[in-house]
Amino acid sequence: MQEFDTPVLDNHLHLDPDHGRGLEAVKDFARSGGTHLLVVNKPSWLLGHEVESREDFRPTFETTIGVVREASELLDGRAWPVLGVHPGLVSKLVDDRGYDPEDARDLMCDGLSAAAEYVESGEALALKSGRPHYDVTDAVWDASNAVLRHGLDLAAEHDCALQLHTESTTDLSDVTEWAAERGVPEQRVVKHYAQGHLTGGTPSVMSDKDRLREAVAREKPFLMETDFIDDPDRPGAVMGPKTVPRRVDWLLEEGHSDAVRNAHVETPAHVYDIDTEATLDR
Ligand SMILES: [Zn+2]
Repeated sequence: MQEFDTPVLDNHLHLDPDHGRGLEAVKDFARSGGTHLLVVNKPSWLLGHEVESREDFRPTFETTIGVVREASELLDGRAWPVLGVHPGLVSKLVDDRGYDPEDARDLMCDGLSAAAEYVESGEALALKSGRPHYDVTDAVWDASNAVLRHGLDLAAEHDCALQLHTESTTDLSDVTEWAAERGVPEQRVVKHYAQGHLTGGTPSVMSDKDRLREAVAREKPFLMETDFIDDPDRPGAVMGPKTVPRRVDWLLEEGHSDAVRNAHVETPAHVYDIDTEATLDR
């Protein structure tokens, strides 16, 4: 049982209590010294939910809220849900189910609005949106950006952060301009699966050593994540739940305690208004 003198937050992972490792993954994280988790709902189609209306998104969100409640019991700190609509849904709707891009857009906006209700009630911490990371038609790209901007509207309305799944880039300044137009502070735009550096928004850096070295050297706000997908069909497709604590151990050994404080205390406070120290109960 590893324990550090600091909170240890994984800013983006998934838990699938029905098909994946679920709480066993949380135990692995906690035994390795992890204390706090932001748990993002899995894409609705991976949980077997076909969405046709706003209400159809709720089972996916409620699965996540439920597993987060149980995860919090296992952690010295706690977990929070991050809820939203995976940008890949647009292609499922358009390519597989014959939706027009505009109808897909409207359904995905409805899903995000449903997610925002949980932020409003205090059951979720933040929202998740984005745009495809693969080539799409102009109509699908425009629809996706409209969904993303709706996410920013909701982030402004509910005073919360928005995690983004986007194309592979180190420049999201188009998005932070849209955020500014809506009064959403730049740091609340969080790029998930980020490189070690980013223009526009806060990078949630994938926890491999090269990317972390870059983030540390930059001395700017950053978060750490694994994007553990908890999918039994794709073991090893991503980093496991022990990765963030192990990388914290490595950073501390290398003398980067300031960077650890940045990613696990200061940036979480700045982006989400959460106090990872006050919520640590040992
Ligand atoms: Zn993810």
